[in-house]
This record gives sequence, structure tokens and C-alpha cells, in this order.
Amino acid sequence: MRHDTAHSHALVTGASSGIGAAYAEQLAVRGHGLILVARDAARLQAAADRIGRETGMTVEVMAADLTRPADLALVRDRVATDAGLGLLVNCAGLGPLGPSLDSPAELYDGMLDLNVRALQTLTFAAARAFVGRGGGAIVNVSSAVALIPERFNAGYAAQKAFVLALTQGLAAEIGGKGVRLQALLPGVTRTEFFDRVGADIGQIPPEMIMEAGDLVAAAFAGLDAGETVTICSLPDIADWQAVEAARFRLGPNLFHRVPAGR
Ligand code: NAP
Repeated sequence: MRHDTAHSHALVTGASSGIGAAYAEQLAVRGHGLILVARDAARLQAAADRIGRETGMTVEVMAADLTRPADLALVRDRVATDAGLGLLVNCAGLGPLGPSLDSPAELYDGMLDLNVRALQTLTFAAARAFVGRGGGAIVNVSSAVALIPERFNAGYAAQKAFVLALTQGLAAEIGGKGVRLQALLPGVTRTEFFDRVGADIGQIPPEMIMEAGDLVAAAFAGLDAGETVTICSLPDIADWQAVEAARFRLGPNLFHRVPAGR
């Protein structure tokens, strides 16, 4: 990321806590000015004041509920028109309440608006702007459960699979135009994600839980290494490459005039 976005500033959604807050801290240390987005204005301002004091970087706050069309439009317009923006981190997200049928239908609507609609809107706004300038990077926070929907809430896993597919597809479309795209697939990460829906992270074995700061540092390493998909906890990258190779091997047989004989 240091190459093409070195002197740019970064807009981080979900910057008031957890993974987004860790991004904000580490981006400022790396020399990026910041625009911090989330709903809790007071919390964002406190983070902005502290980060600005500690790093000397300019940190701006944009309080927005990204499930509200008017708020989303404001952030989208900022992404589309801010010529100094070189990096978008789409981190704001909301989890479910237990198994699929335990969550009320309205919760899925709100999750879709935040996890899918807002992320897609901001991704396309940034992609257009960055292609126009010939440079920039977009980091989309997906989840490891995008790869194993059988192990978690189906609605949430499907939304995170959307984020993964959007990022991979767009990387193929515009990757050659100087724009970097990265889907980050965290496993279990110690944040407020579980508290917000009344779940207890204490039920999860400690050896499965990553600290947000460690996750983000590893995500930067993946971005710097040119990864489109980063799974920070995966020891052997060959395991992911084998999955991708198997997927692409299907390619020639996905589009035939005649149904297969089987
Ligand atoms: P978190 O600590 O709960 O942070 C969520 C962030 O999203 C907060 O900054 C929150 O701020 C913001 N947000 C929530 N609703 C919003 C809305 N309507 N409009 C704007 N901002 C909103 O959880 P986290 O773990 O850091 O989550 C970050 C991302 O990581 C999410 O996309 C999540 O799906 C993903 N993820 C998390 C884990 C995990 O184990 N923690 C694993 C895989 C993926 P406000 O309340 O101030 O709005």
C-alpha cells in the first residue's frame, strides 16, 4: 500500500471500534491522514483527537449511519469527489443474533443495508474515482465464514460471501488500472462485534481469538504483498491457492450448450 497511496488520506468506515479503530490507528502511524466514519460522533472525535495528537496526522470525523440513504449518500459523495483520497477501508459491519432463524427478519434488513448495500455503494464510488486517477486501494472486510457458510449464521455468511465475490470480481475488472483491491477474511477477532448482539466471546476457545491490532498489521502485510484475498490466520498460503486453482479448473465446464451427461 505504501507505493501508490503513500501521500493520500484514507477513509475508514466502522472506525469507532474494533477492527476499524485498529485500521485508523495503524494508518495514521503509516502516515495517512484520516476520515473516520461511524454513527457515534463523540467516540469518533475522541479517537480523532488522540490519533491526531499522537501521530501529527490530520484526522476528520464524519458521523453517519450507513443504513440511512441520506447519510450513505454524503459519504459516497465524499469518496467520489475527494481528490486526495487514496484508500477506502470498508469495515463497518453488523453480525447476527445466533443461528439464522433466531434473528428477527428486520435484523437481516439492517445487516443487508450495512454489510452489503453501503459497502457496495462506497466500493463503486471509490473504484470509479481511483480508476480516473490511476491509483488507489480498496480494502473490504469480509469474513472467514464466507468460505464456510455451514459453520455460522447463513444470512451473515452469505453477505460476507457477497463482499468476497464483489472484491475478487472487481479486482479482475480494474486491477490492471492501478487500483488495488483486497478482501480481508478475519476469523474470530476480539472486538465489540459479539457484545453488540448479546453473544459471549468467552464461549470461544482463546486460541481461536485474534486481537484486532494483530489482524490489521497482518492485513497490511497481505496488501503490501499484493494479495487480493487475505486470510491472516492461514499458516500455509498454498492451501488457499489450491482452493482458487480448483475453482478456476471448473471454468471451462461451467458454460456448455449441452447439459452434462451425468
Ligand atoms: P465492532 O467493534 O462492533 O465494530 C463495528 C463498527 O461498525 C463500529 O465502528 C460501529 O460504529 C460501526 N457501525 C455499526 N453499525 C453502523 C451503521 N449503521 N453505520 C455506520 N457504522 C456502523 O466489530 P468489528 O469486529 O470491528 O467489525 C468490523 C468488521 O469486521 C465487520 O464488517 C464485521 O462483520 C467483520 N468481522 C468481524 C469478525 C469478528 O470476529 N469480530 C470476524 C469476521 C469479520 P458505531 O456503533 O459508532 O456506528
